Amino acid sequence: MPYAITNRCIQCDNCLPLCPTGAITLVDGKDFWIDPALCNNCEGYYAEPQCVLTCPVDSPVPFQAKKGRCKASERAITSPDLFPNGKTNSFASAIVVWELCNILAQRRSLPWQVDPIGQLYYQRQVNQGQSLMTFHVIDTLDSQPAPLQAVNALATLDTFDIRAACLHLIYAAHAAALDQPWQEAFVMSDRQIESYLGLDKRKDLSKPAKLALIKELVQQPCKIAVSLDWSQPGKIKDFSLQPAPLWHLQEIQHHFQEDEQGCKHLTGLTFRIQAGTWTNHFLNRSGYKNRAAFYQYGTLPQSLLTTVMSIWQQHEGAARIMLWLLFKSKMGQEQRITILTLMRIAYGETKLSRVAAHSDERKRLLRTFESDLEVLNHYGMKPVFDPVTYPTEIQPLWAKLADLPDDAEAALEFWINDGTQNSRLTDAAPRGKWNRLMNARLLYFELPDDWQKPPAKKTKQKRYPKKHRQASFQIQPALSSQQIIEARRKLQLSQRTLAQQIGKSQSWVRDVERGRFQPTLKDQVRLCQILRISEVS
Ligand code: SF4
Ligand code: SF4
Repeated sequence: MPYAITNRCIQCDNCLPLCPTGAITLVDGKDFWIDPALCNNCEGYYAEPQCVLTCPVDSPVPFQAKKGRCKASERAITSPDLFPNGKTNSFASAIVVWELCNILAQRRSLPWQVDPIGQLYYQRQVNQGQSLMTFHVIDTLDSQPAPLQAVNALATLDTFDIRAACLHLIYAAHAAALDQPWQEAFVMSDRQIESYLGLDKRKDLSKPAKLALIKELVQQPCKIAVSLDWSQPGKIKDFSLQPAPLWHLQEIQHHFQEDEQGCKHLTGLTFRIQAGTWTNHFLNRSGYKNRAAFYQYGTLPQSLLTTVMSIWQQHEGAARIMLWLLFKSKMGQEQRITILTLMRIAYGETKLSRVAAHSDERKRLLRTFESDLEVLNHYGMKPVFDPVTYPTEIQPLWAKLADLPDDAEAALEFWINDGTQNSRLTDAAPRGKWNRLMNARLLYFELPDDWQKPPAKKTKQKRYPKKHRQASFQIQPALSSQQIIEARRKLQLSQRTLAQQIGKSQSWVRDVERGRFQPTLKDQVRLCQILRISEVS
């Protein structure tokens, strides 16, 4: 049973350094308080509770759970609630935010490395290696956080929980609501977080358990720092950022109520958080208008948060894919995705390499993957299989049975028809299924309605300079991929060079040339200019 400190406490500070679990804290600089979630009665450390032994005034007493409802108490004013429409909110969706989401979801599965001075880091190249993001694990309690050494950093990573990615997305939504998020803080209460995550509906968790969980999850996204070396074709100047937390937890306010014994019971928490300096470059509305910074945002569906909170334990792989899809879908809904990529995200490269050599483990992972795909399908993220690389015979059984009619007679006919085919839906998987899957693809995921962008506001039609208007007239009907290939080859440009000149990725050029999608009118105009289409055609 945990202990609680009563109002007899004279703040002598004897007990705090003796507590083996760190359960005793000095709250708001004046009151000593035992966190019941951390106090274990000194079990496993000492025969007697150390705080009881050392206290000169017998202040600590066995903790009794608070009975009755919590009285409304005065609290700090919080930032406006997110999800006012009950469904979606804008959120900062820059690649830095995506990568921290991956870190919180995938943790040790990512390729972390140790630098020459023993610090753990994870690096990600962007724009074909022109830009670099480097992430370190830090200790938030330090006002000037220094990257942790590898052993401590790995231990901290092991305490991370995929649900912290939901908190990170909530911060990104709050930051998107601020004009200058690198200068302003946002304030959230435990009640707001409970409702965003759907914890308010959980009857199996007590109030102290919910508060302990929220407090833990809130801190995790603040334990990662990022440094940036950014260079990108276009008008925005190159910039560098020294390591700094993505989210700075400025303050945690504890709200208590006292019982008849004089024990304080935690009844609420308020958090003040400020976004890091990265927002000055990636979430800068006025800078974007002056073409001095980016302003990158997307739509965050609340259903994603509540779904991750409910499936994280049984289907962590599905939760990881869901979080990844939130950002991937920003690149356009019809994005081909290889099964290898999905598996890397869901289970990590190390696990994939390990199971590749063991057929039993491969089969187990395959079952997990198919079950995770089914969970995604259940929550409205419907995978659309590529008929060429992911044909019916290697698709999961649940997908094959999608056409099974509800009506009993029709269902009987369905099974009779199936029985007359050479291969049946329930046949065992064909030999080499794993290897075929490693080359299989999904055409895209159909996403739920609340994942789609809200209807765009009507904006003024952009008028291009006269010469561009002329070019756009000339390229009607749409520029064909063959025209682009021929023009590029005639000018002896590689796909990479063309990508750099137009300010896109090499894969964008490759996809346009393969006819996977049609570039926008504006991009067609740029292509015509760069490739001198009027001269070559
Ligand atoms: S009983 Fe032990 S673990 Fe609990 S608060 Fe006291 S010293 Fe800490
Ligand atoms: S030892 Fe007793 S009086 Fe001293 S801080 Fe701890 S609870 Fe308070």
